Amino acid sequence: MEQYFVKEKIDSDEFKITDTENYQHIIKVLRHKIGDKIFLVDNTQSLFAATIKEVDSDNKAFLVETKKQTLKTTELPLNVTIACSLSKKDKVEWITQKATELGATRIVFFNSKYAIMHWKSNVVEKKLSRLQEIAKNAAQQSKRRVIPEVSYLNKLTDLVDIKAATNLVAYEESAKQGEISLLAQTLNENPESILCAFGPEGGFAPDEVEFLNDHDFLSVGLGPRIMRAETAPMYFLSVLSYKYELTVK
Ligand code: SAM
Repeated sequence: MEQYFVKEKIDSDEFKITDTENYQHIIKVLRHKIGDKIFLVDNTQSLFAATIKEVDSDNKAFLVETKKQTLKTTELPLNVTIACSLSKKDKVEWITQKATELGATRIVFFNSKYAIMHWKSNVVEKKLSRLQEIAKNAAQQSKRRVIPEVSYLNKLTDLVDIKAATNLVAYEESAKQGEISLLAQTLNENPESILCAFGPEGGFAPDEVEFLNDHDFLSVGLGPRIMRAETAPMYFLSVLSYKYELTVK
């Protein structure tokens, strides 16, 4: 069954969906009819099974009967921010979609010295709105309860303003020097929230990493192979899922 987000709190067993985007997609594009069932997630991250009862095409709205579900949440047990240096349009979109599927809570893009892309201030809002839409669709598709927030920082130094409880920088030079234990050690401490910064294709400038280290970002290696800029955050998120979501029975 498909899942959709609604912006309101669902607090009774009937709920009217009035936002035109959901109406357009569910009724017009997918042609759902009275009696069809979907899942809804409300603004408290509660999940409901919803059966369509009435369609009001004049007002582009529809009424559903709701039943709260007790299914376990699909969210990672800690808040995870991935902060990625800017890359080309298709790459930032790819990162947003896949990082959402893998459970990131927040996705931040930032400018850095060796980034090949830079966003002018007049395009930031439009780009973020497109990425936020991609995150919403990916969150619906992967049955998440949370839509990751996508944001942009004009300077790498601004990362210090959005720090999590534990902050890392995935550094290719650490990996080249054989650093293989700091990420595993950090995760063994079960941080309540974690942020990891990733460089662009050209990597981090040494002074950028020095700045981050001076502000309590720990440099970590992600294994012996150097990954592409968009692969490294997916590796990181997969490691978190392995560590906190999978188990041997
Ligand atoms: N140009 C760099 C070089 O030749 O060494 C490689 C940069 S890599 C393509 C892009 C980013 O991915 C890096 O800045 C880092 O954040 C991350 N990364 C990739 N592989 C990594 C690894 N094995 N350990 C830590 N970080 C890694």
